Amino acid sequence: MINIGLFGSTGSIGESTLDILRKHADRFRADVLAAGSRLEDLARQALEFNPSTLVIADPQRLSQLRDLLGAEASRFRLLAGEEGLVEAAALPTVDIVLQGISGAQGLPVSLAAASAGKRLGLANKESMVMAGPLLQETARRSDSEIIPVDSEHSALFQCLAAGRPEDVDRLILTASGGPFRTRPQESFADVTLEEALKHPTWDMGPKITIDSATMFNKALEIVEARWLFDVGSKHIEVCVHPQSVVHSMVLWRDGSVIAQMGAPDMKVPIQYAITYPARLDGTVQTWSPELFDGLRFFAPDLEKFPSLRLGFLAAEKGGTYGAVLNAANEQAVAMFVDGQIGFQDIFDSVATVMERHDSIASPNLAEILAADRWAREELASCF
Ligand code: MG
Repeated sequence: MINIGLFGSTGSIGESTLDILRKHADRFRADVLAAGSRLEDLARQALEFNPSTLVIADPQRLSQLRDLLGAEASRFRLLAGEEGLVEAAALPTVDIVLQGISGAQGLPVSLAAASAGKRLGLANKESMVMAGPLLQETARRSDSEIIPVDSEHSALFQCLAAGRPEDVDRLILTASGGPFRTRPQESFADVTLEEALKHPTWDMGPKITIDSATMFNKALEIVEARWLFDVGSKHIEVCVHPQSVVHSMVLWRDGSVIAQMGAPDMKVPIQYAITYPARLDGTVQTWSPELFDGLRFFAPDLEKFPSLRLGFLAAEKGGTYGAVLNAANEQAVAMFVDGQIGFQDIFDSVATVMERHDSIASPNLAEILAADRWAREELASCF
């Protein structure tokens, strides 16, 4: 039996992971369930999956969770706060940490899992964007394997198995283009929150859905790919592919292109991160000729989506640029969701903060977190 520590269990990645654990209950069990704010969902999951440990991000709400669990509360070890999350990620009983926490707040859990030598199924791309070299070095020292869950990176990871790293010409990240692919840029200032929350092909949490609309999601994924696969930014390309059936491709030096494909469903990359290098029966239908009919690919519009340029810049320059790109964008999205700024302002303000940043080469964790704080404040001061 393989024990999973599931972080972000009530989010979109978490719920999909639990579907996989239901299907393969003979092989995998949830040993840790960690969640942010949805305590009722966490309590329901706890009673169904019977983990040893439950963690909530906010220590103030521990008594509320205890009340929800009632007489059953004593069955679980209850932890809270960043300390609790980090402790749970390193528990000796946990074999695989499935990291589905959204945003920069996920970094401590990723580092804790890597440092404890766990397999880290990484859906929290922000960890790699902010602290790629540090996270990789931590994993190397502890013999931890990092298996990407982000669908594009899972695709690249699978495609890269077809050859030697030195023979890679380019990693080609596919992008759906989001809901505004064909919308004229002149009307970006009028985009409403509701419009930005409608993704054409993927069903995901709100932050990543808005990031898909701005293509900052792809910008972050460029940086993620740079550190995950140790490939220079000149060997990374973005290709718009509206159907999201080809999840990404590798172009080899001999001209061969290897693609990984299937219906857009996160359960496929999540399960692969858990079972790698084996494959078990899937939980979704991923092949039909109709699904693959008329697939289209074209170059992205870098004028309309300057987010992509910023992603390439952060991947090329390294240092604290990744942390700043991520934090500035998180702050801008939060302000957009709050109705404080417009959609076009997200691009303009993040670009301004990137321009103003003095990067630190080979940053340690304290420097990364300081750059993250600086970027949030700097972005808020743009308005
Ligand atoms: Mg992705």
